[in-house]
Amino acid sequence: MQFSEIVGHDDIKSLLRSQADGGRIPHAQLFVGKQGVGKLPLAVAYAQYLNCAHPHDGDSCGECASCRQFARLEHPDLHFVFPYVHKHTEETCDDYFSSFRQWFLSDPYGAVQDWIAFQSNDRKKGEIYANESERIITTLSLKSYQAKWKTLIIWLPERMGEAGANKLLKTLEEPSPSTVLLLVSDNPDRLLATIRSRVQRVNVPALSAEQVFGWIRQHSTEVGEEDARRVARASMGSLSTAKQMMEDLLQGNKRLDDFALLMRTAWGIRNLPSLDQKGDFLLRLQEWSEKKSGESRDEIIMWLQYCQRLLRENFIYNFKRPELNYLSVTEESFSSKFAPFINEDNILPIMKLFATAERDIGQNVQIKIVLTDLALQLIMQIK
Ligand SMILES: [Zn+2]
Repeated sequence: MQFSEIVGHDDIKSLLRSQADGGRIPHAQLFVGKQGVGKLPLAVAYAQYLNCAHPHDGDSCGECASCRQFARLEHPDLHFVFPYVHKHTEETCDDYFSSFRQWFLSDPYGAVQDWIAFQSNDRKKGEIYANESERIITTLSLKSYQAKWKTLIIWLPERMGEAGANKLLKTLEEPSPSTVLLLVSDNPDRLLATIRSRVQRVNVPALSAEQVFGWIRQHSTEVGEEDARRVARASMGSLSTAKQMMEDLLQGNKRLDDFALLMRTAWGIRNLPSLDQKGDFLLRLQEWSEKKSGESRDEIIMWLQYCQRLLRENFIYNFKRPELNYLSVTEESFSSKFAPFINEDNILPIMKLFATAERDIGQNVQIKIVLTDLALQLIMQIK
């Protein structure tokens, strides 16, 4: 990864470059900042720059043997420690490095929860386990294969237990020559004070809304310009947050269609004058619940959660205070017509219907029964 591939942070890139060019390379640095601002890509690009055979124009060359290995995270002197969910206590990061590499290369700004979801089906918290410290010590004591600088990147050292952190402290106190330690932390306050005092801190700030907007436009053709602006503003300068919001937005359009159809049909059955029309709508409702039952339980649960958010937003929409609303362009155009149907009298009973359906789906009640029941009860609430 080259500096040029990383969004923004010109000051930090130039600081890292001048350290490397001037031969004043700190033994250990701690990259600090919130999730999704690019700390891990910066650490990788810095390590690549340190080892590049022909750096020029303020960046690694991207072409020498070392750069080519770095681009695939396959350099023998580049080592990683990262949190994961283990299956056996004797495992180490080595056992998951090839999936970590695959994940990082596809999503360099990804958040730790994205990585854990990629790595494991267990819904556990990823950790850096105690036996990792032995591996760190061994790795650092070995002579480097070919690189000028052997690099160990520890992603999220705050996820180490105390025993592991104390061993890490030892390696920070007795640095091996030609070795660079790069710690990358979302939460430096959770590190031992003795670790923090032995590393040079690099603060990586949030990106500007303009930088996030540029990145969205470059990476997604599906999100329209106005939605991209709204996401960029709401992302607080984090590309992992922006990415999550864009996924929700694109999913949201499909989820919105289902929500709109359900509400329109329920309204029709209650309010249309002729029995014939009511019958047509009832048939439509039946077809809809039939089709929706084909989706996975996880997707239906997410849809039911989406509906609850949308109901809240529509209720708020009636107060005409846009600063309290977060709606996409499509959602807003829907809400401008739908919001009046949600009021003080029905918001709580309707929310409860969706919450109950969400609970029942989670408890393995038959999907079609839950959805049909939800639809029938909605008929009583939408006037
Ligand atoms: Zn190079």
